[in-house]
Amino acid sequence: MRKLGLIGGMSWVSTALYYEAINKAVARRVGGLASAPLLIESHDFARIAELQAGGEWERLSETMIASAKRLEAAGAEGLIIASNTMHKLFDRVDAEVKVPMLHIGDVTAEALAADGVKRVGLIGTRFTMSEPFYRERIEAHGIAVSLPDAGMAREIDRIIFEELTRGVVSRVSQRTLKTCLTTMAQARNQAVILGCTELVMLVDPGANVLPVYDTTALHSRAAVDWILAGDKLPAEAAEESAGAA
Ligand code: GLU
Repeated sequence: MRKLGLIGGMSWVSTALYYEAINKAVARRVGGLASAPLLIESHDFARIAELQAGGEWERLSETMIASAKRLEAAGAEGLIIASNTMHKLFDRVDAEVKVPMLHIGDVTAEALAADGVKRVGLIGTRFTMSEPFYRERIEAHGIAVSLPDAGMAREIDRIIFEELTRGVVSRVSQRTLKTCLTTMAQARNQAVILGCTELVMLVDPGANVLPVYDTTALHSRAAVDWILAGDKLPAEAAEESAGAA
C-alpha cells in the first residue's frame, strides 16, 4: 500500500469522515486486519476560518504549502486536501511538492461525466459557490454548473460555519437542504454536488429527489484507489473467484 498524506482539520468533523471512509474501504478491499497507511496534519479550524473570512489567501497558501511539505518530508507518497474550499489553493500547493495530489473537483467531475450528467447544482461554502476555482474544474468536463439563489447560498454558508464544522446537525437545517435540493431538481439539474465535505451530515445521498454526489465519499474512494493501486488484493481476488465459480 502507498502512504497518503491528508491535510485536514477543515474541519475536524469531516476529517473524521475521511478517516473512517478510507480505513473501512481499505479493510474491505484488502481484508483481514488491513488499515490505511496515513499521515494526517489536522489544522486549527478557528484560525483557518478566520483567515478565509479575512481574505488572507496568501497566508493560507503558505500554511497549506508548509503542511504539504511536512507531510512529504515525513514520507507521504501522495497528498489530499480534505476541504473543497481550500482547493482554491490546490495549484499553488501542487506546484511546491513532488508527490502527486488528488483534486476533489476532478474526482467529482469524473464521476458526474461517467454517469452522463450534463447539468449539475453545486452547494458549498460561499467561496466554493461564488468563485470560479471549483466550478471551472467541473465545467472543464462539459458539465454546466448552477447555484442556489443568493438567499439560499447565504443560509448554506451559515449552516456550514455555524453548525456543521462545529459538529451540530439540526432538523431545521436538514429541511433547508431538502428545500434547496427540491428547487435544484425543479430547475432541471440532473444531480447535485455536495461541494463541502461536511454537507453529507445533513443530506442522505441515497434518499433524495435527485442523485447526490458526496465529495467526501468520492475523494475518499479515489484516495483508496490510489493507496491500493498496483497491490494484489486478496479480498478482491477471493470475491472474483467466488463470482466466477
Ligand atoms: N469542509 C468545507 C469544504 O469542503 C468547509 C471548510 C472550509 O472552509 O475549509 O469546503
